[in-house]
Amino acid sequence: MFKMQSGSKNQIVKLSKNSWILILLFVSLLIFFSLMLLLKKKPEYLSKVDIALGTTLKVVVSSEKDPRLIIDAVLREFHRIEKKFSLNEQNSDISIINRSKQPVEVDEETAFVIERALTLARATDGAFDPALGNLISLWGFDRINQTDFNPRVPTDSEIEAALSRCGYENVSIEKGIVTMSNDVKLDLGAIVKGYAIDRAIAIAREMDPLATGYVDAGRDIGIIGAKFKGEYWSIAVQDPRGDSGDYLDVVYLKKGSIVTSGDYERFFIIDGVRYHHILNPKTGYPVRKTISTTIISPDAMDADALSTAAFVLGSEFSSVLMPVLGGQGLFVDEQLKTTQTQGWSFFKEKR
Ligand code: AMP
Ligand code: MG
Repeated sequence: MFKMQSGSKNQIVKLSKNSWILILLFVSLLIFFSLMLLLKKKPEYLSKVDIALGTTLKVVVSSEKDPRLIIDAVLREFHRIEKKFSLNEQNSDISIINRSKQPVEVDEETAFVIERALTLARATDGAFDPALGNLISLWGFDRINQTDFNPRVPTDSEIEAALSRCGYENVSIEKGIVTMSNDVKLDLGAIVKGYAIDRAIAIAREMDPLATGYVDAGRDIGIIGAKFKGEYWSIAVQDPRGDSGDYLDVVYLKKGSIVTSGDYERFFIIDGVRYHHILNPKTGYPVRKTISTTIISPDAMDADALSTAAFVLGSEFSSVLMPVLGGQGLFVDEQLKTTQTQGWSFFKEKR
């Protein structure tokens, strides 16, 4: 009995020694990892600016692979899409479809964009209408960036005539074959930038699934990955009547996209009246009540078409319809009064 007790005493002393070693080891490991964490540099971001799709493009990427290669691939993708969907390129898919008097067979990508555009046109009751080509070219908003552009307000009868040759109901696509009637022309200017942003993000992630950063195409933004792999990007909604840098609101995103349509993006002024590029498909004139609409949505393509639709529909209707179509929005009227969808406030906090 006695022996046993002293034996157990010895055992206790032996265990304490081991514990001390373990504690020492643990503390040194803790100090080592804390030092490592302190010394570990935050990922660096590389950025490049370019011009594409009629706007300034900024690509910001951080990657443990080569971020330069990713940025260049993203920019190449933007230029490829611009060429394919441009109205000014003679051989673009859209020019070929618009010129043809016969149904045109298109590839999978073009079919995908046209199909989505038609779906969103139906869902917004034609507020977003991808077949307004004749009206848009009558106003000249397809040529507004060209040096010889001569702004002019069309007459009512010219607008009426153009409107009679517009409307998504005249476009159909089946098994990759696009059929257009009534001499309508496609203008995908309100959706292609969003599609390009989605493609850019897909390409960056294909090249490095852990890449982070964002693509900013004239304040239409798609997130490649959360800032420093875990933090929110702060995104300001521009004040449509302020100087660049003035903003109305800030939201926080780790993923998804945010797209704005504004009457300050492409416009001309005649006799003190601003004529801008977002046209009401029902009247044929630039929309007046809204001056800026911003949509947050998982896909930039949808956000792009929806921001244009919301612009046409106005804040009251849009604050109900947009969430049904997968977008949360902030809408600004002529008096700079803002209206939001219910879910917008979700993005105003870092959750
Ligand atoms: P966004 O800046 O995305 O709103 O797109 C505006 C561009 O889309 C214009 O420059 C036109 O090419 C075209 N567009 C104008 N009004 C409409 C509309 N109601 N539906 C669809 N596209 C439009
Ligand atoms: Mg748009």
